[in-house]
Amino acid sequence: MSRSEAADFDAVVIGAGVTGMYQLYRLRELGLNVRGYEKNGDVGGTWNMNRYPGCRLDSESYTYAYSFLKDLLDEWDWREEFAAQPDLNEFFSRAADKMDIRKDIQFNMVVAKAVYDEARNLWELELDNAQVVTTRFLITCMGVLSNPIMPKFKNMDLFRGRSFHSYYWPHERDGFGGKQVDLTGKRVGVIGTGATGVQIISEVAKTAGELFVFQRHPNWCAPLCNAPISSERMADIRRSYGEIFDRCASTWGGFKHDFQYATVNDHSPEEREALLEQLYAQPGFGIWLGHYADTLMDRDANNITSDFIARKIRSRVKDPKVADKLIPKDHGFGLKRVPMETRYYEVYNQPNVHLVDILENPIEEMTPQGIRTAAEHYDLDVIIYATGFDAIIGAFKAVTIHGRDGKTLREEWADGPFTYLGLQVPGFPNLFTLLGAHNGATFCNVPRCAEWQANWVTDFFKRIVEQDIVRVEAEQQAAEAWTEHCYDVVKGSLFPSYTHSYFFQAFGAPDKRQDRFLFYFGGNPLYRQKCNEVAANGYAGFVMASSGTRSERLEREDVETV
Ligand SMILES: Cc1cc2nc3c(=O)[nH]c(=O)nc-3n(C[C@H](O)[C@H](O)[C@H](O)COP(=O)(O)OP(=O)(O)OC[C@H]3O[C@@H](n4cnc5c(N)ncnc54)[C@H](O)[C@@H]3O)c2cc1C
Repeated sequence: MSRSEAADFDAVVIGAGVTGMYQLYRLRELGLNVRGYEKNGDVGGTWNMNRYPGCRLDSESYTYAYSFLKDLLDEWDWREEFAAQPDLNEFFSRAADKMDIRKDIQFNMVVAKAVYDEARNLWELELDNAQVVTTRFLITCMGVLSNPIMPKFKNMDLFRGRSFHSYYWPHERDGFGGKQVDLTGKRVGVIGTGATGVQIISEVAKTAGELFVFQRHPNWCAPLCNAPISSERMADIRRSYGEIFDRCASTWGGFKHDFQYATVNDHSPEEREALLEQLYAQPGFGIWLGHYADTLMDRDANNITSDFIARKIRSRVKDPKVADKLIPKDHGFGLKRVPMETRYYEVYNQPNVHLVDILENPIEEMTPQGIRTAAEHYDLDVIIYATGFDAIIGAFKAVTIHGRDGKTLREEWADGPFTYLGLQVPGFPNLFTLLGAHNGATFCNVPRCAEWQANWVTDFFKRIVEQDIVRVEAEQQAAEAWTEHCYDVVKGSLFPSYTHSYFFQAFGAPDKRQDRFLFYFGGNPLYRQKCNEVAANGYAGFVMASSGTRSERLEREDVETV
């Protein structure tokens, strides 16, 4: 790669989670002068930060591993079908050792601002210690769920007990588990009943003196059916890694589960009931992503699964009024991320657990002693905010990114994400956004898609290096077509019927707000196929300039379009 235009680095990767570590490693192996920046103190991203009790995978552990680290797979034993945070943190920490990647990462360092210098074809990065560094290429691996949302209640600072967002659960000195926060016998309030809230509630209910669950919208949850992995089973898994990863590469979501039938009409009502029963009793996302594809496409088909799950909730929760409050009425099953649970519904049969409906009686304020709703005051020792994340877009909002002509990414995306393959944005040359908005790798069993995507980007970089390309930028028309395609594929589904989830975000002027779908609904195989076609066609849709045209504006006659 030409170094004539002096930049501190050939490539900078922001974020050292599962995605960023691997991308950084691949680019370093290509011979590039690389640097990673990570705002936390170590690698691991999600699994380094979320240390609340009950934090674990909904993906099968052995599908969530890095597939390329054969020696780590040979020596690593998964302890449970769905690994808990400490094990994941350890796995990815050891992966970092194997890649010897920490030496290339600056930790506790936020990339606060990125400005593209068109004359020099490089990015100027402002770090939160006011240092400025330059890089030819900038690659964001900033996470899908890495920017927690704290709600804004009145008088939050008055509360005298302990309170924290699930993402910032206190870290142990030995690194794991958050045992520091002993909730035994305490009066605990949990705000939020999404995937994280459900995991926390099920654990905290075991020891808390009183647990108050502040629920605004219930979610459709399904049993995780976690279990320990015996040494015999682990040996079997180890022998099957190749097949497991091949299977995941072939499925819509990158999980081992895939839709088995096109429509509910493939079966009689009795057969459907039997299949749903079977899947409900089976581990993992099969009940969501493993039966009838039209469950996510057709209202009547969706009602069948929703009715089934509602009956299950009623059968598991003794008080019919509580059961009713736990059944979503505003959306069908699977139209939001399905929280996987372990005896979650049974928790509400315990005398120490109380469901507080804050849609009916909203939280009015925090007080020094606890939480006041419109109906009553709850005395609490601890408040846990399981209030989720500003998904996908949050990390991009947190960095000020200026492209060509000073335009910010925020301005470019004022009406919604605008990307080519979810990987590049016109006007922002040399910026690659892994697992970003409208990126097919984002709605996925993440390591499967992250690895694949980093490999695809690395292949692109091989070409960049070979041809001494100094500028790569998505074409306007290519981005228009991709953005339209993203909205087209989801249009036929039921997702747009319910936008109150992290799959959507509102964009546009205040009087013209529009909810935009942030993911790519076409599925993992179609996304790969499209990216592979783009590569096979000489990276069609990307405009590239080689070093001869380095300092000129992107004009058709000056650049090599490949
Ligand atoms: C509780 C929980 C459970 C989950 N369970 C599953 C599951 O079962 N299956 C699944 O597939 N996915 C799951 N996910 C999604 C999970 O986030 C991904 O699987 C995966 O860990 C994402 O890896 P990543 O490297 O892309 O992002 P992250 O792990 O989020 O890493 C991004 C990193 O970028 C850093 N960063 C961001 N902005 C900056 C900046 N400006 N400067 C410096 N550093 C920055 C962050 O600090 C972070 O460390 C879960 C997420 C959560 C929160």
